[in-house]
Amino acid sequence: MAAHISTVGHQNALYDATTTNEKLHSIKDLPKSNNFTTNLPPDQNFTTPASSHAAERRELGPRLVKGALYTYVRPDPPSKYEVLAVSPAALQTLSIDPSSVESQDFQDTVSGNKILTWDEAEASESNMLPEEQQRREQIYPWAQCYGGYQFGQWAGQLGDGRAISLFEATNPNSNVRYEVQLKGAGKTPYSRFADGKAVLRSSIREFVVSESLHALGIPSTRALALTFTPEDKALRERIEPGAIVTRFAQSWLRFGTFDLIRTRGDRPLLRKLATYVAEDVFGGWENLPGALKEGDMAETAVDPACGVAASTLQGENEHEENRFVRLYREIARRNAKTVACWQAYAFTNGVLNTDNTSIFGLSVDFGPFAFLDNFDPSYTPNHDDHMLRYSYRNQPSIIWWNLVRLGEALGELIGAGARCDDEEFVNEGVSKTWSAELIKRAETLIEKTGEEFRAVFLAEYKRLMTARLGLKQCKDTDFDNLYSELLDTLEALELDFNHTFRKLSNMNMSEIESEEQRKEVAGRFFHSEGLGATVGASEAEARTRIAKWLEQWRNRVIEDWSEGKDAERQEAMKKVNPKFIPRSWILDELIERVEKKGEREILQGVMKMALNPFKEEWGWNKEEEDRFCGDVPHIKRAMQCSCSS
Ligand code: AMP
Ligand code: MG
Repeated sequence: MAAHISTVGHQNALYDATTTNEKLHSIKDLPKSNNFTTNLPPDQNFTTPASSHAAERRELGPRLVKGALYTYVRPDPPSKYEVLAVSPAALQTLSIDPSSVESQDFQDTVSGNKILTWDEAEASESNMLPEEQQRREQIYPWAQCYGGYQFGQWAGQLGDGRAISLFEATNPNSNVRYEVQLKGAGKTPYSRFADGKAVLRSSIREFVVSESLHALGIPSTRALALTFTPEDKALRERIEPGAIVTRFAQSWLRFGTFDLIRTRGDRPLLRKLATYVAEDVFGGWENLPGALKEGDMAETAVDPACGVAASTLQGENEHEENRFVRLYREIARRNAKTVACWQAYAFTNGVLNTDNTSIFGLSVDFGPFAFLDNFDPSYTPNHDDHMLRYSYRNQPSIIWWNLVRLGEALGELIGAGARCDDEEFVNEGVSKTWSAELIKRAETLIEKTGEEFRAVFLAEYKRLMTARLGLKQCKDTDFDNLYSELLDTLEALELDFNHTFRKLSNMNMSEIESEEQRKEVAGRFFHSEGLGATVGASEAEARTRIAKWLEQWRNRVIEDWSEGKDAERQEAMKKVNPKFIPRSWILDELIERVEKKGEREILQGVMKMALNPFKEEWGWNKEEEDRFCGDVPHIKRAMQCSCSS
């Protein structure tokens, strides 16, 4: 049973937190585990927490780490810190008691001052059983080792250069386990030439957007807390103050983790990692798609309402689709759904390198991301992306490009078919006489997964667009007549993407009955200054085009809802069409006010909006709320960021 309460403590006083009757915990009492570090190989230089803990901090600096998936490494405590914000939604996901965020344990954990699971003083004072103490001492922070293709080129070893995972924590109510991590808490063996820090500017952006994406229903890594470290300066384009984001995800594994092992030719480790992902991250091989009964495939791959042709993966045994193919398909399906959400809400990641593409299918690593303002498919938020590789329009094909790299890494396991566990293959690899057949099978299965990726992407995209347009079902003709024509119109007339959907959500059918009315109403979609000077249409032409679209839309709405159902349809539409989106201009203003002007309340206000994006009002500050939901100021549209964060 959900109830609305106001949380306690100055951090959260402005939030509406939804809570349940389920038991809440302190961060310290949450059940902890270390499945990642127990199941996967550590850096051979520091094979135990104790050996890393005893090492000088500088010994844990940048180097190549082979045959390992992580290094035990502790955060660097900042000289001074201030917890600027805590996400109430994140507290709820983790089942942390909001009143416990003021506790020293919480504050010390999110600032990198204390390793909760390794608190020696406390362990010696308490009556902890030796076995329990020993078990806890194995849970020690670590940084992951991975590689990646950056802008299409192999970049070698990358890894968590400024992220340190603290522990896995399981919410005892939901039984979901998360890896809790600090970003910006110091160098690791994977920092390469950089400083291990994150600046306040990019930390504010990540904190807000990851929680905002989650609130919009888009799979994302999450943010628990934002901690300002004013004395830890970092040099970017200017000298900037640092910060730490406490973030969490069910898995932080990236495609780049597999890429690195593949380029190093470490076959046993590749199999081990694939097995870990299936068994531990996805909860067992039986949860993967191929385990479904014959016939289920088509239904789950394809939304029946949209009638997209079924994927051709039926008859799977014909290709000896072994368990590794099913793992690959699961990863492909998850990413297909996530990129469909990005397209439907016009979110652009900006740096979709394979090290920033999640095995779990989450939006991950927020650098120069942005939501589109005006609909412009060639927009990239990344100032350095001259080839537009990571533009809005390219995202689905880039995710597929990344999936093909993953397919190559898994290729041998996929291609081995029914013989994937044969001793000779496991120990010695692919014999010459077998390789042509194995390669052919791997290619065929990767190609087929590509078809499935497309089908899942399209079905999810159509499902979301159908809902965003207030329709109950997606007819064949809708794609051309409604979706494409709307997008073409928005692009041609330089109109705002997300605002358009919210405006449609507020519209009554009686307002767009006649051509005259529709032409009048069309003006609502214009920016406050009217049509832009670069638009190649007169105002009259623009009104005619929008009116024509509104007529088609009205017919389809009435077909699905019958007449007189405005209220119900509007309610349904407002649940999927956000009023608030953290646009670049809003984040810029937020950063300016928090960093330069020392404001704090603004952060709570914006978070309140980001966590409840579909609301009409937030009871925070009417004037600010209206401004942040209103027309994007002309010179602040389609801003770009550099990669430096
Ligand atoms: P990104 O483009 O942010 O995904 O980063 C690419 C790689 O560079 C990752 O391995 C990051 O951990 C690393 N990296 C980025 N910024 C820093 C930094 N300030 N200190 C250490 N490593 C960093
Ligand atoms: Mg990254």
